[in-house]
Amino acid sequence: MLTQSWQTLANLFLQQTCPLCDRATPQPLCANCWHQLQPGANTRPPQPPSAALPIVTWGAYEGALKRAIAALKYHGQPQLAMPLGQALGQHWQQFPLKTVRSPLVVPIPMHPEKQRQRGFNQAELLAKAFCQQTGLSLVRQGLVRRKVTTPQFGLGLQARQQNLANAFIVGPAFNQHRPTRPVLLLDDIYTTGTTVKVAAAELRRWGISVCGVVTLASAVLEKSRQMSDCPADADSNRLSRSTTSPPL
Ligand SMILES: [Zn+2]
Repeated sequence: MLTQSWQTLANLFLQQTCPLCDRATPQPLCANCWHQLQPGANTRPPQPPSAALPIVTWGAYEGALKRAIAALKYHGQPQLAMPLGQALGQHWQQFPLKTVRSPLVVPIPMHPEKQRQRGFNQAELLAKAFCQQTGLSLVRQGLVRRKVTTPQFGLGLQARQQNLANAFIVGPAFNQHRPTRPVLLLDDIYTTGTTVKVAAAELRRWGISVCGVVTLASAVLEKSRQMSDCPADADSNRLSRSTTSPPL
């Protein structure tokens, strides 16, 4: 009896707390917060109206999902990437881009110095969980970030593009052996699309096909365009046009 009481007490102290509400929970997020950030069963989140690439996104960048992403990135909660990435993977399984071949999943990279400071790249952790769920192949070093960029938040479009100019270079996973399968970029948040556009342009420069982007959240909520399909061999022209198109 005494032993059982001590065990209960130990469980109480050892149990982690939900990073969003501080309730004790054995899971990375408590059931209440997890329920709050669900974008809604069997629904497609609104798609950005001017996405240069076909995009699949799980939820709107607001409310509990926004707080969960902030906890993941800025408050040292990398364990949140597993349930969030798996949820994104389940969404992909329900609403995939209609690629002809299975895409290679390439997370948007962080600059090595910034990743060293944070301790992880949240896009890579999300991609790992996404690939575990979907069975798609993860390519960690498909792209490398060679430039430390200032946060995009609050920058105008021109400043965003200048900030990201030459930010990415094809990484060691691809620069020796160009892949024959298309790339699916993965990032945590889609805002204006400038980041994925620049990343895709670098891959295209090497003749690598990019079929779309998958993100956990989208900050653009207009519902004027639903996601488009992604013919694996037809994206090259679309992407080429997109690199000189008006602001996203
Ligand atoms: Zn909670």
